[in-house]
Amino acid sequence: MKIGIIGGGIAGLTAAYELSKAGHHITLFEKAAHLGGQVATFEVGGEAIEGFYHHIFTNDTDIVQLIEELGLSQDLRWLSSKVGFYYGGKIYKFVSPIDLLRFTPIPLIDRLRLGLVGLYLRRYRQWQRLEATTAEEWITKYAGPRNYQVVWGPLLRGKFGNRYRDVGMVWFWGKIHLRFASRSGVGQSELLGYITGSFGRVIKALADRVTQTGGIVHTSTPVHRILTEGVRAVALEVNSSIYSFDAIIATVPSPNFLAMAPDLPEDYRAKLEKASYQAAVCLVLVLNRSLSPIYWLNISDPSLPFVAAIEHTNFISSSQYGDKHILYLSNYLSSDSPLYSLDAQGLLQQYLPNLKKINPNFDPSWVEEYHLFRDEAGQPIITTHYSQQIPEYQTPIPSLFLANTTQIYPEDRGMNYSVRLGRIISRLVTKFQVKSQGNEGT
Ligand SMILES: Cc1cc2nc3c(=O)[nH]c(=O)nc-3n(C[C@H](O)[C@H](O)[C@H](O)COP(=O)(O)OP(=O)(O)OC[C@H]3O[C@@H](n4cnc5c(N)ncnc54)[C@H](O)[C@@H]3O)c2cc1C
Repeated sequence: MKIGIIGGGIAGLTAAYELSKAGHHITLFEKAAHLGGQVATFEVGGEAIEGFYHHIFTNDTDIVQLIEELGLSQDLRWLSSKVGFYYGGKIYKFVSPIDLLRFTPIPLIDRLRLGLVGLYLRRYRQWQRLEATTAEEWITKYAGPRNYQVVWGPLLRGKFGNRYRDVGMVWFWGKIHLRFASRSGVGQSELLGYITGSFGRVIKALADRVTQTGGIVHTSTPVHRILTEGVRAVALEVNSSIYSFDAIIATVPSPNFLAMAPDLPEDYRAKLEKASYQAAVCLVLVLNRSLSPIYWLNISDPSLPFVAAIEHTNFISSSQYGDKHILYLSNYLSSDSPLYSLDAQGLLQQYLPNLKKINPNFDPSWVEEYHLFRDEAGQPIITTHYSQQIPEYQTPIPSLFLANTTQIYPEDRGMNYSVRLGRIISRLVTKFQVKSQGNEGT
C-alpha cells in the first residue's frame, strides 16, 4: 500500500517504521524544518539535547523495547532522580518517604495522610470508577484541603493553568499510579531513563530505518488538506502538489487535523472540537554554574512565574555539555495568560529575578545562553468522563486514521504512549488493507 503520514513526531515516525517493516511504501510529511515534534533537539556544547526536558520511566515498556530494537539500548542509562519541592522560600527534597515526613509546611497528620493516599493510588486499579470526579474534589476529600492547597493543587495549577479545576481524577490517578509503579518498592527511589546523546537518536534511527527501506521523509513540508473521493481519503495537498495514497495517517494535534480534513462527519468533528490543550512554554538557560542540587524542582509558590525548574545537568553530567549547566524553566499556559505572548527576552526578564529565590547567590551573569521552545498542543486537558470524548483511531472515513496525544488515556501523554499509538495505528492500517483486499475479491 502507499501510505501518507502527516507529522514527524515520535508517533508518526513509529508508524512509518512499523509500516515500512511490513513492506508498505511510506511518505511522511513534517511541517517543521526538523523531525521529532515535542522531542526535537538543539545543541549545547556540541551535544544534542531536547528543547523540552525528557526522561522515561522503568515501566515505559513500549519505548524501552523500541530502543532495544533500534540497537540503542547500550546507551540507555537508568539514574536516580533528585526531586524537590519549592515552598515558602525553601527547597525540600522529595525523594523518599522520609523526605515526606520531613516536609514541615504541612502538619504531621497531613503528611501521613498524603503518604497513605499516595500508597492507595499506587495500588488502586479501577480508574473507570474515578471518571465522574474531578481531581480537586477527590484530593480534597481523601488527602484533605491542606494537602490540596500546598502540594497537589499547585501541581494541577502548574500543568493546567486556569483549567485546573476541570481536570478529571483519572488524570491524577494515572500520574501517581504509574509514577509509583516505576519504583521497585515503597521505600525505593525512582529510576529515570535517558539516552546518551538525547532521545533525538531514537527519532533519527526511526527516520533512517524508514528511508533505508525506500520510504520518503519530507521536512519543511506542511500538509494543507486531506482530499477525499467518495467515502475514501485518497490524497494529500502539499505545497499545491497532490500526492495520492491508499491510506493516510494524521499524527497532528486535533485542531490542525480539523483544519485539514473538512469532510469528516459531524459527530466525529464534535469530538475533535472538544479537545483543548495548554501550550508548553519552556525557557532553557545555559548557565556557567549550577543553580541547585535538584534535578526536578516543583514550584509550589504562586509568586514564582514558572511551575518547575528542571536542572538537566543534575541528572546527566554537565561534562556531556562542555561543562555547561542546563536549566529548563517550564510553564503550561493558556492563551489568556500574560506570560503567553512574551518572547524569549521578555520571559527571561520575568524569570531572572526569581532565580535568586531558589539560590540567593544567583547572578544574571551566570546565564550564557537562553532558548525558548513552545508547543501550542503541549498538554491535552483531561476532564471528567474523558473516555467518552476520545476520537477513534480509525475515522469515519475508512482510509483515514488519527493518532495524537488526545487519545492517550488513562495515562498522561508521553513518548512511550506515542510509540504505542504509532504501533496501534500501523496494525489498524494493516488490517484495513487486508479488509480492502478482501472486498476487492468479492
Ligand atoms: C514540555 C514537555 C515535556 C515533556 N516531557 C516528557 C518526558 O519527560 N517524557 C516523555 O516520555 N514525554 C514527555 N513529553 C511528551 C512527549 O514529548 C510527547 O508525548 C510526544 O513527543 C508526542 O509525540 P507525537 O508524535 O504524538 O506528537 P508531536 O511530537 O506533537 O508530533 C506531531 C508533529 O506533527 C507536525 N505537524 C503539525 N501540523 C502539521 C502539518 N500540517 N503538516 C505536517 N506536519 C505537521 C508537528 O510539527 C509535529 O512534529 C513532554 C512534552 C512536553 C511538551
